[in-house]
Amino acid sequence: MSVVLDGKKVLVTGGSRGIGRAIVLALAGAGADVMTCYRSEGEAVDSLARELKSTAGDHHLVRADVSDQTDLARLIDEARQRYGRLDALVNNAGVISHIPFAELSLDEWRRVLDNNLTAPFEVTQRALPLLPEGASVVTIGSRVATIGIPLRAHYTAAKSGLIGLTRSLAKELGGRGIRVNVVAPGPIETEEEVSPQVRQRYQQLIALRRLGRPEEVANAVLFLVSDLSTFVSGETINVDGGI
Ligand code: NDP
Repeated sequence: MSVVLDGKKVLVTGGSRGIGRAIVLALAGAGADVMTCYRSEGEAVDSLARELKSTAGDHHLVRADVSDQTDLARLIDEARQRYGRLDALVNNAGVISHIPFAELSLDEWRRVLDNNLTAPFEVTQRALPLLPEGASVVTIGSRVATIGIPLRAHYTAAKSGLIGLTRSLAKELGGRGIRVNVVAPGPIETEEEVSPQVRQRYQQLIALRRLGRPEEVANAVLFLVSDLSTFVSGETINVDGGI
């Protein structure tokens, strides 16, 4: 069954690369009007803009760091002026970091929590006045949040926090018909290099014996943004190949 999102207005954070880019292209391909943001200009943004030209709809790429208050206020204001409402918000932007716990500085802890937990909170809170009845909020978590993994205590703490935030928000906003969910990817093959050793380890751990594709995460987001999931809220959907 193909998903139809004709006319839906969606904001996706961090859409210039990786999973976010696949989400933007999937939403646009299904007929949504999509606004996305990124931190740095460059070929990734130019190439996304070129690809979006081949889809119908009103798409908009904005340089805005979601961990920066001024940028965030400007982003939400642009969404309000351009679309007037947001039928869906996808909190995708996030940063990864690998550090032994004993060496984890408070600054790095704060940077990772700011980007992965505080930013989705602030984006969602600022976007709230634009979310009509029936809107869908989807946040990209991580499968390792509920499994645990060495060197990523700060990252998994932030991503676990998103699950609590989502469950409580689903209860608080449900009366307004707003659904709130998490998509938790396992290891996904993005532009980032994966060493042969890491790939082999993942292949042993994952039932499907491979890393996932960004499009496979985007498919779960499409489902949650669409009317196929109108009774799904407070949920975490794992997209992990059966870890
Ligand atoms: P990438 O690093 O490949 O891409 C991140 C995207 O988000 C880029 O477009 C980047 O823009 C943007 N971004 C990052 N921080 C900010 C910010 N503060 N403000 C605005 N834009 C920002 O990430 P992935 O695609 O790998 O990950 C996407 C999400 O999926 C993250 O939340 C991540 O934690 C999660 N995830 C990823 C997995 C994986 O295997 N890849 C597994 C599980 C979860 P720019 O390049 O300009 O910085």
